[in-house]
Amino acid sequence: FDGLTRLLNRSAFFDQAEKLAAFSERQRQPLSLIQLDLDHFKAVNDTLGHHAGDVVLTHSAAIIAQAVRKADVLGRVGGEEFCIILPDTGLAEAVEIAERIRCKLATKEVLIDATHTLKVTASLGVSSSEEQQDYKIENLQSVADGRLYLAKAAGRNCVSSGA
Ligand code: GH3
Ligand code: MG
Ligand code: MG
Repeated sequence: FDGLTRLLNRSAFFDQAEKLAAFSERQRQPLSLIQLDLDHFKAVNDTLGHHAGDVVLTHSAAIIAQAVRKADVLGRVGGEEFCIILPDTGLAEAVEIAERIRCKLATKEVLIDATHTLKVTASLGVSSSEEQQDYKIENLQSVADGRLYLAKAAGRNCVSSGA
């Protein structure tokens, strides 16, 4: 586990993700992936300090964890990057879930200390085995990552599924 957020760390996440992908492929069930990156996170560290950055990470992780379902696998795969695997879920449904997470993050204020609150947003990219004809986590993540950068380019605080 990741010590800060208590989510699966990168290697534990990929272990579980790959098992789930193999199972989904055998069952011929769709599998979707959401890649999430916090917006302008460096500015939080630079203006309020590294501790505030850590508080934002913990807060965001908790909100994401609350928004996913029991069967989903969630991990912290980079500094301020999270990934979610959604079994038995097609692209359209995964986009709805991504949108729900985006909205929860954008509406809840983070309490940094007694005098500071902050709003955090995230950009999300979604991909699916259904549309890619591929169950390889590495490939699905790379497609979702490309879409995440489309979401950043579109102004951040949004979800992209390629279209
Ligand atoms: P963008 O909207 O384009 O994603 O901008 P950004 O500022 O979020 O992106 P960038 O990649 O420039 O910055 C990510 C920052 O995340 C840089 C690093 O200082 C910070 N970071 C990574 N891991 C941690 C951590 O564990 N704790 C804290 N406090 N900061 C972290
Ligand atoms: Mg990043
Ligand atoms: Mg970022």
